[in-house]
Amino acid sequence: MYTVFAGGVGASRFLQGLCQAVDPAAVTVISNTGDDVEMFGLHVSPDTDIVIYALAGAVNPDTGWGLRGDTFAVVDQLQKFGYERWFNLGDRDLAMAIHRTRQMREGRPMHEVVGGLAAAWGLTCKVLPMANETVRTMIAGPEGEIAFQEYMVRLRTEVDVRSIRFDGVEKAKPAPGVLEAIGGAEAVFIAPSNPFVSIGPILAVPGMREALANTRATRVAVSPIIAGQVVKGPAAKMMTSLGYEVSALGVARIYQGLVDLFVLDVEDRELAPAVEALGMRTLVTDTMMTSMERKRELAEDILNAIGTGR
Ligand code: GDP
Repeated sequence: MYTVFAGGVGASRFLQGLCQAVDPAAVTVISNTGDDVEMFGLHVSPDTDIVIYALAGAVNPDTGWGLRGDTFAVVDQLQKFGYERWFNLGDRDLAMAIHRTRQMREGRPMHEVVGGLAAAWGLTCKVLPMANETVRTMIAGPEGEIAFQEYMVRLRTEVDVRSIRFDGVEKAKPAPGVLEAIGGAEAVFIAPSNPFVSIGPILAVPGMREALANTRATRVAVSPIIAGQVVKGPAAKMMTSLGYEVSALGVARIYQGLVDLFVLDVEDRELAPAVEALGMRTLVTDTMMTSMERKRELAEDILNAIGTGR
């Protein structure tokens, strides 16, 4: 069994490769729900849906989120009634939010709802939310605290991030199946996701770090920073404003003590000794997942390095 701590776009690319390299039925995704947002009265789970759409082969390849070929007539029309238009929720994407919201209002726990959505998209891997309770990633900037999607989408990350807080996390518990997926795995992967706002909320759920500390699985992290830059998103900006070195080594420092193997891009090969000095093994390989083949090869390289896989 292979378990993956996952955010959105970076994680979904990694998962596409892993699900080709191994039987997807052996893969469990632990999805970040700290990004979730209430929009137009609907519960939207951006990271979870990116992963489901990507694994179903339906994600919009141009953006990495949303559905390929989706249209935006509903959000356009909602402006007539005074709704703000900053959050792009496609017309077909809305179906997911409607169904999720209805089921949650009927009292179904999040892990069952997410499991049902993934199954409806034909996935055979297991997709679990990190927790069933509400956790909200809050970004503190110069003008106070805002919810993550406001920072990310409405303000286009143009805010100096002073600190990050996961509202509600102290009352959250790993969703049913999460601890078992960590404890019973051969390998636990921290996907190349944003360490602060994608992996951070998952690790902040009480019990999660202990589960990672106690598992016999090989724990692997893939750097989302290549040659001192992000492939996309605000991770580098956040590293700078939160006082971390913007490099794969900076990421390795964040995960120090949590992982056994740290995967660096070939462009960062000279950082390997410094990462190893933090007490982890390294694998240097091409981590830029530009094609389906590269995604699969990255997963295979890692599986070979840890001596597991098909
Ligand atoms: P988000 O929630 O949609 O922002 O997605 P994630 O947190 O899962 O992923 C964002 C991170 O993925 C960014 O820091 C990117 O640098 C990283 N990323 C995206 N594509 C790739 C890739 O092909 N290779 C690597 N190594 N990192 C990637």
